Amino acid sequence: MEIPVPPPVRWICDVLRGSGYQAFVVGGGVRDALLGRPVHDWDVATDAPPDAVQRLFPRTVPTGIEFGTVTVIIDSQAVQVTTFRSEGGYRDARHPGWVTFGQRIEDDLKRRDLTVNALAYDPASGRFVDPYGGQADLANRIIRTVGHPVERFQEDALRLMRAVRLAAELGFRLDGRTAAGIRCCAPRLERVSRERVGEEWRRLLAAPDAGRGLMLLYRTRLLPWVLPGAPKLERVAVRRTVAALERLAASGAATKMAAVLYGLSSPEADAALLRSLVYSRQASRQVSHLAQCLRDFRRDAVHSDAALRRFLARVGREHVPPFLELWRAWQPLESHRLGRELDRWAERVLAAGAALSPGELAVDGTDIQQAGGVPPGPQVGALLTRLWEHVLEHPEDNTRDRLLTLIKAWATEQRCSG
Ligand code: ATP
Ligand code: MG
Repeated sequence: MEIPVPPPVRWICDVLRGSGYQAFVVGGGVRDALLGRPVHDWDVATDAPPDAVQRLFPRTVPTGIEFGTVTVIIDSQAVQVTTFRSEGGYRDARHPGWVTFGQRIEDDLKRRDLTVNALAYDPASGRFVDPYGGQADLANRIIRTVGHPVERFQEDALRLMRAVRLAAELGFRLDGRTAAGIRCCAPRLERVSRERVGEEWRRLLAAPDAGRGLMLLYRTRLLPWVLPGAPKLERVAVRRTVAALERLAASGAATKMAAVLYGLSSPEADAALLRSLVYSRQASRQVSHLAQCLRDFRRDAVHSDAALRRFLARVGREHVPPFLELWRAWQPLESHRLGRELDRWAERVLAAGAALSPGELAVDGTDIQQAGGVPPGPQVGALLTRLWEHVLEHPEDNTRDRLLTLIKAWATEQRCSG
């Protein structure tokens, strides 16, 4: 099979060859191209040493020169060109103690993590170098380590996450020995920086098959190391969360993470969990708000239109769509007296012109000053709030005429009482 290598990448390989070096396309680009998935970056492996690469191309950036990586820029496309490399003497369950540059592509492929990532392709001849059966594993949709799983996970514990994340992204299954190796090495995830764990977790969650990804984390016993301190990691809770994630396949990152918090965490544990996964402050706020709304909705007795309007006001206009998605994802799993009706109910209530914040009133502070003769100051805000309270009970009154009438009446009332 031939791979559609883009012209700039091909040209880089040609230039290297023209100077007597070997050049292959390697890694995720080859994998994704063979799967017919979009390729987001192409990597080139060569026996040319980094300084030769820098001399051969007019625009280069020494992005990882001590590890042999030079970024070559052609037509504003950045291609990483890395010298064949062997690694060893792993320190701290993560980083190699030594790196040497090599002469053979086979040695370079040997240090790579998974068979599907350890494939090289020569665009000039259309030949693959595939010593670990990467093409067969791609065809059979299997994630398998290059070499002995336990050894490879002991060298670098990030590979534990990469294996499961890639299985979720590609919809592959884990080879049995690889899965057993992950189970055995799971506690080593403790040695990986939380930034990297969080990054892998977010990529896993972004996959359409995130539910399966979560199931794999559970089965491989990685889950307690990925979500430290989550209070509900037992089988039933995980299965329910997996089912919810399956319904949220097309949803945004915040909605999916909120489903995970709702399913596996608790109000007390949310903040620490989000921190341990290095979520940004803004993302944390949104995610925990959504999860908390779902918990509150279950606890609160929302059974009138007015109560629903008040509840949706607390959710906040921009969070209403993800909140309803979350609700839909969880609702079939739990008996609740509202049944499937919340969607339609919320739609009706919103269509009737409910104002979910004072900003959604048909009048504003200027109207209060002008129509009510109220001087600028706290009185304006107080009247606005009072109008909003009124509209929460009587959404049909959210028209300019009706509210101006109320402003006049209430402003007079205030002046008389004040
Ligand atoms: P993607 O870019 O879609 O995440 P990728 O496979 O290109 O996938 P990168 O992180 O860009 O992933 O790494 C490029 C290649 O380097 C991988 O395909 C793999 O061969 C190798 N690699 C990356 N991380 C490791 C690791 N921790 N251990 C061994 N090899 C690795
Ligand atoms: Mg890549």
